[in-house]
Amino acid sequence: MTYMVKTYVVCGAKTRGGTTCARRPSLGRNRCKLHGGASPRGNHHWNWQGKGQSREMRRREAAGLKRVRDLVKTAKAIGLIR
Ligand SMILES: [Zn+2]
Repeated sequence: MTYMVKTYVVCGAKTRGGTTCARRPSLGRNRCKLHGGASPRGNHHWNWQGKGQSREMRRREAAGLKRVRDLVKTAKAIGLIR
């Protein structure tokens, strides 16, 4: 017999009381809305300049490289390239 272990994601930020925040994170984020989950990131942020080595730009570059790697892997698998 298998048991369904109910897991749920929590914010996990340290509260003023020293405990761990048990609120659920904002959608698509790791922290709840009280602990930074609502702060705009990347080009949604008012200080966004769209240049340099900002965290968001590094993330986008890494995502693009991963797409290329996956594409090359697929092309090799089906014999389009060697
Ligand atoms: Zn929180």
